[in-house]
Amino acid sequence: MSVITIERKVLEKNDELARQNRSLLAQKGIFAINVVSSPGAGKTSLLERTLEHLAGRLAVAVIEGDVQTDFDAQRVAKYNVPAVQIVTAGGCHLEANLVHDALGKIDLSHIRLLIIENVGNLVCPSNYDLGEAMKVVVASTTEGDDKPLKYPGMFRNSSVLIINKIDLLPYVNCRIETLRANALRINPSLTVFDTSCTTGAGIPAWCDWLLARTTPGAT
Ligand code: MG
Ligand code: ZN
Repeated sequence: MSVITIERKVLEKNDELARQNRSLLAQKGIFAINVVSSPGAGKTSLLERTLEHLAGRLAVAVIEGDVQTDFDAQRVAKYNVPAVQIVTAGGCHLEANLVHDALGKIDLSHIRLLIIENVGNLVCPSNYDLGEAMKVVVASTTEGDDKPLKYPGMFRNSSVLIINKIDLLPYVNCRIETLRANALRINPSLTVFDTSCTTGAGIPAWCDWLLARTTPGAT
């Protein structure tokens, strides 16, 4: 069917550009993560806590993907890290060519960690390789514990799961053990962190994990 052919061509082109991004990042010694979640799971808050915790310890750059606004990039700008906003103007995922253009706007020479915040969407971002080392999926306790079963593709294609908003567990209909078990059933090799961006719980462990995966460099 022609529709399938077009889709495949789009993805092939994307994969080729993702390979170029990946080789550029490898050349520069940059560890890149693609942070995905549904809208409101707390990607930007996690980014803020991460930047706060890594300040002075690791040179980080940020690419912010958003459908319509640059509100998130404004939040990130406070942390004095190179940040580029991609507004997709309605597009529901980032693509490798957009990330390629954004990389061209950042001085990558001292950067050790690149955090790409994808558009809030648990469906198509799982199909679009951006050239990252790995995808990090954020699931918040307010979304319940069945997200991994509803969106298995995203959990299968991610290497890390961050269970966010654990401070709200007493008030929401979510058993963290069930959420974790559902995710691990889809993808047994997931590394899981439990975090709260309000209390700061779990942020040091997550940042230590990032530090262990990046090469030391000037900040
Ligand atoms: Mg955001
Ligand atoms: Zn999409």
